[in-house]
Amino acid sequence: MLTDAEIRANLTAVQGRIATACERVGRDPGDVGLLLAAKTVPADRVAVAVAAGARLIGENRAQELAEKDAVLSQLPCERHFIGHLQTNKVNQVLRYVTCVQSVDRAELADRLQRRLEAIDATLDVLLQVNTSGESSKFGVAPHHALSLARDIADRDRLRLRGLMTIGLPASDPELIRPSYRRLREAAQEIRAAAVPGVTMDVLSMGMSADLDVAVAEGATMVRVGSAVFGARSLPGDHERGPVGDEP
Ligand SMILES: *Cc1c(COP(=O)(O)O)cnc(C)c1O
Repeated sequence: MLTDAEIRANLTAVQGRIATACERVGRDPGDVGLLLAAKTVPADRVAVAVAAGARLIGENRAQELAEKDAVLSQLPCERHFIGHLQTNKVNQVLRYVTCVQSVDRAELADRLQRRLEAIDATLDVLLQVNTSGESSKFGVAPHHALSLARDIADRDRLRLRGLMTIGLPASDPELIRPSYRRLREAAQEIRAAAVPGVTMDVLSMGMSADLDVAVAEGATMVRVGSAVFGARSLPGDHERGPVGDEP
């Protein structure tokens, strides 16, 4: 577990990387949000990052949202769901989050819509796109993104704000660039279709190893875990390991 000072220094370093990556391509660092991916990180460590200025926390599991809620609900931060969301976890997850970034099927959109009707609420969502082909289990294929965007737009409790993708870990971050470019192109295609009620302002892509490439390709939100909180005990667990949602 990292010390408070280490977490603060890491956060500053990541903010510096975002600023440098923006400078290189002439973007405003203010246009790139930083979400801290907090899976397996104890609530008190997350709290240190929030005290140092982090405002957006990502969680992958319903159970972890519940366990950390007593601490995190008291802090000036929002939580987003970024893991694979099973329909039977929707009610639980909606208690805690302001955005679900991982909507990847009409069935899930439906389940969210019905629950949101029941509690009379609306929710920001991102559509998760699988930009890396067969090697990734979750996310809609890029050529199906527009039709799923239309499906989501038909559900009046969901506000589709943009797209999310998970770049598979690669030895060289450059290998991920085509994935991130594909996400930007998918967003352009949906934007061009001018689906009523749908904005495509958010491109959530880029993690500790490759956020610089993601920023260069147009990310408006990077999701960073290990570069701030240190290595997790379960390595390589973005979506393949036990840290999806529990069965
Ligand atoms: C864990 C996780 C991240 C952050 O990964 P790091 O490599 O630790 O920065 C980003 N997105 C998702 C969906 C994750 O599960």
